[in-house]
Amino acid sequence: MNTPAPRLAEPLSKVLGARTATGLGKLGLDTVEDLLRHYPRRYGSPGEMTPIGALALGEHVTVMAQVRSVTVRTMRSRGGAMLEAVVTDGRDSLQLTFFAKRAGVLRMHESKLAAGRTGLFTGTVGEYRGRRQLTHPDYLIVGVDAADEDEAVLEASRPIPIYPAVASVPTWRIGRSVRMVLDPLTEADVPDPLPAAIREQRGLPSLLEALRAVHVPDVDADWRRGQDRLRFEEALVLQTALARRRAAREALAAVPRQGVSDGLVQALDARLPFPLTAAQVEVGEQIAKDLAATTPMLRLLQGDVGAGKTVVALRAMAQVVDSGGQAALLAPTEVLAAQHLRTLEQLMGPLAFGGMLGGDPHGTRLTLLTGSQSTGARRQALADAASGAAGIVVGTHALLSETVQFADLGLVVVDEQHRFGVEQRDALRSRSEHPPHTLVMTATPIPRTVAMTVFGDLETSLLTDKPAGRAEVATHVVPADNQAWLDRTWARVREEVNAGRRVYVVCPRIDADDEVDPETLEAAADEPDEPAAQRPPLASVTQTAAMLAERAELASVRIGLMHGRLSAEDKDAAMAAFASGEAPVLVSTTVIEVGVDVPAATMMVVLDAERFGISQLHQLRGRVGRGTLASVCLLVSRAEPGTVSRERLDALAATTDGFVLAEKDLELRREGDVLGAAQSGGRNSLRLLRVVRDAALIEQAREHARELVARDPDLAAYPALASAIDSWLGGEREEFLERG
Ligand code: ADP
Ligand code: MG
Repeated sequence: MNTPAPRLAEPLSKVLGARTATGLGKLGLDTVEDLLRHYPRRYGSPGEMTPIGALALGEHVTVMAQVRSVTVRTMRSRGGAMLEAVVTDGRDSLQLTFFAKRAGVLRMHESKLAAGRTGLFTGTVGEYRGRRQLTHPDYLIVGVDAADEDEAVLEASRPIPIYPAVASVPTWRIGRSVRMVLDPLTEADVPDPLPAAIREQRGLPSLLEALRAVHVPDVDADWRRGQDRLRFEEALVLQTALARRRAAREALAAVPRQGVSDGLVQALDARLPFPLTAAQVEVGEQIAKDLAATTPMLRLLQGDVGAGKTVVALRAMAQVVDSGGQAALLAPTEVLAAQHLRTLEQLMGPLAFGGMLGGDPHGTRLTLLTGSQSTGARRQALADAASGAAGIVVGTHALLSETVQFADLGLVVVDEQHRFGVEQRDALRSRSEHPPHTLVMTATPIPRTVAMTVFGDLETSLLTDKPAGRAEVATHVVPADNQAWLDRTWARVREEVNAGRRVYVVCPRIDADDEVDPETLEAAADEPDEPAAQRPPLASVTQTAAMLAERAELASVRIGLMHGRLSAEDKDAAMAAFASGEAPVLVSTTVIEVGVDVPAATMMVVLDAERFGISQLHQLRGRVGRGTLASVCLLVSRAEPGTVSRERLDALAATTDGFVLAEKDLELRREGDVLGAAQSGGRNSLRLLRVVRDAALIEQAREHARELVARDPDLAAYPALASAIDSWLGGEREEFLERG
């Protein structure tokens, strides 16, 4: 659309030469703009030394230190020459060692590394005769490469940008390259995505000024001011992209589905075995209103596990059926799709058999569409969807295949959306002439700040209260090396079984040769705290089931198995045997993570619990405590107290509030992980903006963005902003914006 400014788009190979460009290419930097957008990670100040005592062996470091001494000597034993310099932070010292064939080669280093000078030294921390050292470090002596004395003084006092670097391209080489491309640029070369009026209003520098400030600051205040402006730019570009999507969606006409006063919704409400909670009523009214509008609904329904989202979805689907349309309910797994069908049939009773013998006249027909169905069942389901005979179609991604036609699809409900990609949702949406309304349901609590950043264009609703009479789930961390506790754990399993209850045992793997369950997307997301070689292998479903079968406490208890590699029938059979109590212990991977509803389940044991993320464990735990029976969740783990892994488990033990946990999760994750994998990597990531810290800024940017888009939907007057959105959020980013 808009071609980027020619100077910024120039390849680095042309500006800096092939050799330098190849090095920078390793960092993913190919154009002038890429390089300029490669901001320093932090700033060193020449007066502030790096604490040398804290350096870890084997670590790749960049150290600010002062040279204390330097000597060159020839080595009689090995031949050749060696330079040894000692640098210090004032307390501890570090040795720098260079080897060469002849002493002459080392003279250049010797003259630069004069005692008293300060520099940055980079290399891998090694040890020789008990002393820390860097061998052949790359280095930069502060002020030495300056053109004249004045500049040397300035250089020696200004903050030193420290870039994200790799060993072969150290930070100062990046810095030098940045300055080479930055120095000749003029304002005309660097179009500013920030509209002038907004810039003025907020007192922000131009893009070129900001780039100079972060790359070549004279004082600390410079880079701070530059960063503030660049951070705001990120927020505005992102929010403008979201505002445009929103506007585009609102321009499409959906078929309004007002419903009727004496139809399926009413008949359904009359037969619900429980009163709706206040939140269910309120959210229900909101959705009813959305469905009756000509603007396609795009609503995110957040509700903690067990909050009762299914019935909210069913009432929305019923309204669409009452209006002559159809609804599709997408579940992430076959287990869950089958369970949804059963749940809906149960809630609807005779209403689920509309137009059939014994069915209710207000009713409709339900059908299930999954990948592993028999041909006959599938053919019937396809016919029912295409003719409109089925008002509600429940399925997995098989629903999205080309061969599935609907007579009049009015609503798509996506359950546990974090497992669905955008393309899939769009595939369904583009199936009909008018875009259907969309309701996305998730139990993964998304803090408001994140929802606003990532889902800026979705309306969100919250199921705040849980149905009354829910039992509490007590959670405890069990150290894996405490045999007495483990014995007690398995004895407790037996007690639950004897009392007629069910127990889940969750493992991170299917069998010994397996990495993780293929249906388990989130598992092992975090790095273990200890090197892989030192830890015993992760618990697997098959081994754990065999181990439990051997235990005396569990003699004559039937133990079921569940994981993603089972066929659909075997999964169904395992779930049914578990639910009925025939096999009251179910050893499973995280396939049971979402939605599975067995009210008699009162105990869950998670093995190698530190391998799972906070939200995943919270989901898993939601499988127990679904009835009125007090429940317990035991997190068996090797995580040592004081580690981040252990802190996560302790957080789970401390609260069952999903939103508190989600905030904790954000806090414990490293920067850049916040928005999940789609946000990390790739050159278009958010660089400076942090969704939690910068919430207020994001909100202000959103105001500006909505105003801009309302006034100028095509951004005709703001070509630089439009092109920033195109290039910066292009391709995969668009997808990330819609990700759930
Ligand atoms: P989730 O939000 O996790 O999907 P479900 O929709 O599966 O939760 O509901 C969990 C359980 O709570 C189900 O057994 C459901 O029938 C029951 N439930 C839903 N709404 C209410 C209510 N208002 N009162 C009592 N029980 C309810
Ligand atoms: Mg659910």
